[in-house]
Formats: sequence, C-alpha cells, structure tokens
Amino acid sequence: MADIKTIDDANFAGQRVLVRVDFNAPVNDEGVVTDDTRIRAALPTIEKLIGDGARVILVSHRGRPAGTGFEEAFSLGPVARRLQELLGRDIVLARALVGPDAREVVDAMGDGDVVLLENIRFDAREKKNDPAFAHELADLADAYVNDAFGTAHRAHASTAGVAEFLPSYAGYLMEREVATLTGMLDKPKRPFVAILGGSKVSDKIKVIDALLDKADTLIIGGGMCFTFLLAQGKSVGTSLKEEDWVERAAAMIEKARERGVSLLLPVDVVAADAFANDARTAIVSVDDMPADMMGLDIGPETAELYAEAIAMAKSVFWNGPMGVFEMPAFEAGTKRVAEAVAANEAADTIIGGGDSVAAVNQFDLADQMTFISTGGGASMELVQGEALPGVEALK
Ligand code: ADP
Ligand code: MG
Repeated sequence: MADIKTIDDANFAGQRVLVRVDFNAPVNDEGVVTDDTRIRAALPTIEKLIGDGARVILVSHRGRPAGTGFEEAFSLGPVARRLQELLGRDIVLARALVGPDAREVVDAMGDGDVVLLENIRFDAREKKNDPAFAHELADLADAYVNDAFGTAHRAHASTAGVAEFLPSYAGYLMEREVATLTGMLDKPKRPFVAILGGSKVSDKIKVIDALLDKADTLIIGGGMCFTFLLAQGKSVGTSLKEEDWVERAAAMIEKARERGVSLLLPVDVVAADAFANDARTAIVSVDDMPADMMGLDIGPETAELYAEAIAMAKSVFWNGPMGVFEMPAFEAGTKRVAEAVAANEAADTIIGGGDSVAAVNQFDLADQMTFISTGGGASMELVQGEALPGVEALK
C-alpha cells in the first residue's frame, strides 16, 4: 500500500470527512441487525477520526433497493441504532444523500460528531458511478476515506468516483484487508496450502487458476469437486456438476501436474438420496458413487487426508465450504477442515468468502484464525490478481 495514503498519514481535526463503510448487514423483521460484524469492523477507523476531532459523515449501501428513493426495507435505520450502541454516542441518520438538505445536516455538525447518510443506493446514480453525483457527495466534505473493503471491487460513486474530487485515504480495515491478502499471495510462508470449496467451479475458476501459480498444495472440496472428479473419468451420480466445465477442470489438473502443485481431490464422499438434512445417506468411495445419489460432503477419509495436509502448512488460504454445512448431516467435512486450520498455530490462516466465514463462525473457530476477510467478492478478485477500483481510486 506504499502508493496509498492511510488515515494515519493525516490529522483530521475540524475536517468534514466522508467515510465509505460497508454496513451491508443483515436485518430481521423487527428491524434489528442480526450480525454486526461489518459494523464492528469499521469502528477503529471511525474512532480514530472522532479522536482527531473530525466531523464524520458515513456512507454505505444495504441490500439492493430499486434506486428510486427511500425504501423502508433497505433503510440504514437499524444500522444507525446498532452503531449508536457500539460507539456510545448519538448518530444522526440523514435522509437526504446530497444537495442543500444534506448540506444543512452537515453544517450543523460539531467536531467529533457522526452523521450516517441513508442507503446510498437509494439514488440510482451511485451504482452508475455518475460523476455529477460523486461531485455532489464530495461537496459535503473536505476529505474522503474508503474503509469499505467489501465493496472495493465495485466502481461506484461513493467507492471510486468521489476520490477524484477530494484528498483520499484508506481506512484501517481497507488497509489491513489489502495488506494481509496481498502479503500472503506475494510472499506466502511455505508450504502454502490453498483450500477451495463452495458450489461451483465456474464461480471460482479464476481463483483456482491463480492459486495454482502460488500454492504448494491445492485442496478441492464442496460441490465443485464433482466436476473435477468427472474430469478424472469418475461417475458422480446426481451430484452438482457443470458438464461445460469438465474440460477446464481437466486443464487445471494438468496445470497442477506441470507446476508440481499437489492437487488433492476427495477419495470418499457423504452421498445422499435427496438434498435434505433427513435424506438417506451413505459414505462411499468416489469410485463407487451410486447413480441415484448426490455427494453433499467430503467423506471422513478425505477429511483426514485434508487435515493432514493442512497441519503441515505454514500458510493457509481457505475459500468455500467442503459440503452443505448449513445442514447438520453434511457439516462434518467442513468442520474437520475448519478445526485443522484452527489447530495449526504455526501457520498464517486466512479465511475469505461469505459462506466460508459463516461456517467458521458456526463452529466457533473464528478467533483461532489469523485473519477473516470481510469482503467475499472483493477478496476473490484480489486473489485472482485483479485490481480493485476502490483501491485504485485512492492512488
Ligand atoms: P463462499 O461464500 O465461501 O465463497 P460459495 O458461495 O462458493 O462459498 O459456496 C457455498 C455454498 O456451497 C454453500 O451454500 C454450500 O451449501 C454449497 N455446497 C457445498 N458443497 C456442496 C455440495 N456438495 N453440493 C451442493 N452444494 C454444496
Ligand atoms: Mg457464497
């Protein structure tokens, strides 16, 4: 991040600072935030700015509103209430995003005050990265801070466009996410074991490709393993499979061989006669997959093989669960892998991806990992070696 200024490079006393955060938190029917991880992740940046005596103007999106103005269902009201509790100070939620009404709210701020603008996606110009809208946002402030790593892969008005008009800085979360992920990818401690799972090969092919250039061992689980097993000429029954991607999977197996990367695929799976927690199940070898059953988890022998490889690692990057961990009947493989990652205290361990993070939380192992990325899509794009517009804009 040598070419990017961070909030430690300035004192923001008396300045109006527009801070893009990722407060895209889940909210229940009672209007209560059910997981405040993303809000808490932004606190160090907000607290530093308050400590400086800045006037903090927070900007975030939540969900996918139509972009035609205020919608109660996507309001940041629940987030404002939770933030108020976490910060222990009043938060003003501003209905107007830009223009004279927003200006009035900002003009009334004192040093150390915090205003949260309503869901920035209530205005369709946000996602279009409309320069006039970005300019209007910039007019509210003297400086811009981007701490929304989770949206850094999007070039929107509040994540990229606004940086053209103001002195711009990375917040602590943004800085730590980028530094941690690029640090592991550029100079991994070896052996570097990458674990990939989740549902589809097609979603992750670029990640697989990129990790084959960096890792010493690549472990494959989850729904995507069946496309690889097909590429090895095995039958996979009614498992999730992407016939159009078998050739690419075969190319990845070949690439691993050429580069001397140890590619681990399941040797057994938990097969089920239906996609249901109460399905009839059997543990079967990948050579004997019944035609009318689907694999919903890696089997116990596979889980042990994977755990052994993970125990040898000095760095681990994990994205994507090993099975349908949301159903207790198919969580064991993901749990065994999570435990193995958690138990390896000698390794740097990074978890990225919404469902993988949810799984690690479900097993109560999050605090035993070195780093849990808050940005699923953004962390994947970074691993793929793609530039993030939200980061580029800060340069
Ligand atoms: P992440 O969010 O961590 O990047 P993905 O979104 O790629 O992960 O994949 C997560 C989903 O993959 C989970 O909902 C899980 O149930 C599903 N999944 C894992 N294994 C299988 C499988 N064998 N068959 C079908 N779905 C699976
Ligand atoms: Mg997911």
